[in-house]
Amino acid sequence: MALPEHLQHQLEAGRALAASGGYRGRFAPSPTGLLHLGNLQTALLSWLAARQAGGAWLLRIDDLDTPRNRAGAIEAIQSDLRWLGLEWDGAVLLQSERRGVYHSWLSWLRRSGRLFSCRCSRRELADQPIYPGFCRRAAHNWGWQRQRLPSWRLRVADDDPHGSGDVVLRRADGFIAYQLATVIDELSFGINDVVRGADLREALPAQRSIFAALGEAPPRFRHGPLLCDASGQKLSKREASAGLKPLRDEGLDAAAVIGRLASGLQLVAPEARLSATELLEHLTQQAINAVIS
Ligand code: GLU
Repeated sequence: MALPEHLQHQLEAGRALAASGGYRGRFAPSPTGLLHLGNLQTALLSWLAARQAGGAWLLRIDDLDTPRNRAGAIEAIQSDLRWLGLEWDGAVLLQSERRGVYHSWLSWLRRSGRLFSCRCSRRELADQPIYPGFCRRAAHNWGWQRQRLPSWRLRVADDDPHGSGDVVLRRADGFIAYQLATVIDELSFGINDVVRGADLREALPAQRSIFAALGEAPPRFRHGPLLCDASGQKLSKREASAGLKPLRDEGLDAAAVIGRLASGLQLVAPEARLSATELLEHLTQQAINAVIS
């Protein structure tokens, strides 16, 4: 089934941007609270990779899961990034403003016979590392049943090399799944290099399966390390989850915080003090790439 024209145009525009020769990266926090130090370290690394390559760095807010959004978080994310000197290009992209686009993709995939409805409960799937295809052959029923909606899964071939199983694209609570929204956005905005936290490595197989289903090449995906302190030790959850505020309350300025984040990445010596721009000038592409895998 042919792709609707407006989606085709969007893909072409994204492809042209991605292929324009320039590096295009992004940082995509969820506004579920303040950015913690792990998020800020990832933001710094992603910004460094983009700026070192002379490329663009976009800020996307993953705010589709509205019950998890926190009031004021979107503004706080922007002001923390600005305070650290991590400027992004163009307008902030809010996924909540793109629901229509995701739904158009979803309905095209559904009309093309690529999706099936799944009523498996979390409990039924608890022991299954990969979705075992229980509902694949059941009759489609996209509506309410016993006051519940089904989730919508992408049918992924058993011999698919990514090993993701059948990925949920629309959740049973009706929300568009992060996996779908992120793939559509990487494509629409021509993102060709993603640097994000190592915790998202596990999202990769599902995302690769969706790119493959859409017949599009994925960007290069790379992941930064988990947060470490200046001596290379993993930070405790409590230390890591506190954001900038305690550091600012301690009297640290942006140069001290950038120094701390960069030394956690083993990019500078402990106690270094420097602005994001000074850090950028001081680093080679090799030094940045050495931290990302
Ligand atoms: N919004 C996701 C998160 O904060 C990250 C998405 C991504 O970088 O792919 O965990």
